Amino acid sequence: MDSVVIVGVGVMGASLAWWLAREGVRVTMVDQFEPGDRRASSGGESRLIRCSHGSDADYTASARRARELWRQIEADAGTELMVECGVAWFAHREDGWEAESLTTLARQGIPAERLEPEEAMKLFPSLGVSDLAFVLHEPEAGVLRAERAVRTLAGQAVAHGARLEQAVARPDGESALVALDDGRRLEADGVVWACGPWLGELFDEHLSLRTTRQDLCFFDGGPAWAKPGVPGWVDFDLAIYGTGDLDGHGVKAAPDTDGPDLAASAALPGIDPASERAARDYLALRFPPLARAPLRSSR
Ligand SMILES: Cc1cc2nc3c(=O)[nH]c(=O)nc-3n(C[C@H](O)[C@H](O)[C@H](O)COP(=O)(O)OP(=O)(O)OC[C@H]3O[C@@H](n4cnc5c(N)ncnc54)[C@H](O)[C@@H]3O)c2cc1C
Repeated sequence: MDSVVIVGVGVMGASLAWWLAREGVRVTMVDQFEPGDRRASSGGESRLIRCSHGSDADYTASARRARELWRQIEADAGTELMVECGVAWFAHREDGWEAESLTTLARQGIPAERLEPEEAMKLFPSLGVSDLAFVLHEPEAGVLRAERAVRTLAGQAVAHGARLEQAVARPDGESALVALDDGRRLEADGVVWACGPWLGELFDEHLSLRTTRQDLCFFDGGPAWAKPGVPGWVDFDLAIYGTGDLDGHGVKAAPDTDGPDLAASAALPGIDPASERAARDYLALRFPPLARAPLRSSR
């Protein structure tokens, strides 16, 4: 295949563009927004990057490979995208998902340690451990600067010869044709629709996709939470995750439960006050001094 149009320049589309452009394929990327826009699933401040995936060996290996590739992109672009602050998983029982992850990580030689709850207290400025069986610490996991990462990937694809167009695209009858909202048509040997949550609206006859909103809270934790090395964290059983204060955005706490339905193309609403309450209830349990911290931002 000599030429490809990739619609959608989130992390998936941008990664593919980077990869194919380096192989010498003529790549045209199309996105309705600037790469890294916060309305895309890949946009915004940060994402956790970690290898724990329970007993799933493929996801574990794939995440490890992603870490290597991000390092390569950082070196090529001369920018820091991944902050290797570690990720701590709060395990509520000895034989759950975290224990399975430890086994899978060990099999693949990926650094990970099982910490007694009291030992894990050294990782954070504060940590409530009364409900924990142990903590799985992945020291080489961390936080990816999401918006910067997607922009850098797209920029590296362009550096290798790809083109970037800003337009709304839609399929145009035949499989390798794309119509843009400015009237142009793009043709290539292949078209990849890497449109994330918009795929359901574009191809409703082929797939049914339910898209929901998810709220993020950023709290002012003070200097202790902004120090380098505060790990990202996940409480899988209680469905919440977060990070330290990276780049001055505040301490992130994000309840990981499905919110109400929200169409991908809808305007982003303000957060539901119930999400802030859920985040604060969790902080009171896990990081008590943060429970009353001022909310710096939310979305
Ligand atoms: C709140 C939240 C937190 C998350 N946290 C993590 C995490 O910590 N770690 C992790 O690994 N993953 C996390 N994820 C998942 C991860 O972010 C997503 O899986 C990933 O970003 C999906 O990327 P994508 O490229 O498929 O989609 P998107 O980033 O949504 O990209 C799709 C792109 O297609 C474009 N597009 C759509 N339709 C059209 C059209 N018709 N014409 C032109 N352009 C179009 C959009 O503008 C968009 O830029 C999280 C996701 C969310 C929402």
